[in-house]
Amino acid sequence: MLRMGVDLGGTKIEIVALNEQGKELFRKRVPTPREYQATLDAIESLVNEAESEVGQVGTVGVGIPGVISPYSGLVKNANSTWINGHPLDIDLGKRLGREVRVANDANCFAVSEAVDGAAAGKGIVFGVIIGTGCGAGIAINGKVHAGGNGIGGEWGHNPLPWMTEDEFNSTECFCGNKNCIETFISGTGFIRDYKAAGGDAPSGIEIASRMQKGEPLAQAAFDRYIDRLARSLAHVINVLDPDVIVLGGGVSNIDAIYPLLPKVLPQYVLGGECRTPVVQNMYGGSSGVRGAAWLW
Ligand SMILES: [Zn+2]
Repeated sequence: MLRMGVDLGGTKIEIVALNEQGKELFRKRVPTPREYQATLDAIESLVNEAESEVGQVGTVGVGIPGVISPYSGLVKNANSTWINGHPLDIDLGKRLGREVRVANDANCFAVSEAVDGAAAGKGIVFGVIIGTGCGAGIAINGKVHAGGNGIGGEWGHNPLPWMTEDEFNSTECFCGNKNCIETFISGTGFIRDYKAAGGDAPSGIEIASRMQKGEPLAQAAFDRYIDRLARSLAHVINVLDPDVIVLGGGVSNIDAIYPLLPKVLPQYVLGGECRTPVVQNMYGGSSGVRGAAWLW
């Protein structure tokens, strides 16, 4: 069976066609038109091109930076705002003559890693994408857990757990709340914290590399970062206790996270015992598009 996955991002739309074994048969990316009908056109022609190239008809899954509300049936929370308020799955389904599945891109990431990535064979997978923002998704037995309200995995907009006085009310989030996990553990939050302590770096990777070279400011910022990440993930473990946590996004490329985080997690997980593996993703930037294909 041919499975096609489409990753509908703010700047590019990518399609991948996978065979039954998950082998890539076709891949193409085009710039995202910043208008709804043109976005539908672009996806339709990518699907047609993939099918004529491969010579087979297949299923279509789409990952979006938002969700389809289970109540209104319309896209919401997408930062590519021109798709908000539209029934994307229905409109694409009409054009392509088949049912189209749409899911949040972080959920697609979790599914991709659960099906044949770093979390292959694990039952409950919590996937976190830490980049400019912070998104997360849950896959259960290789399937998306979207949740009754369609917001399963949106833990980045819970408040940072066990806040210190310094941390309390120190950040504001685009979602309208203060103290969101995202504002502390996103790459942006990591840089902001380093800056507030007197440093200046363009990326979390750069802070980590200065730490390796022995810069005390970078070391202190990294230690705070790991402690906040551990507190945030301890909440997930206390609620869901996933079999594995997979990290993605730019920050996941900081190697120093993986030996250190498991040492800090047990301090915050109830009972003081925690051996939950925290691993780097296998498919990197391709996880979104592959996970969209695996929606079928
Ligand atoms: Zn927020």
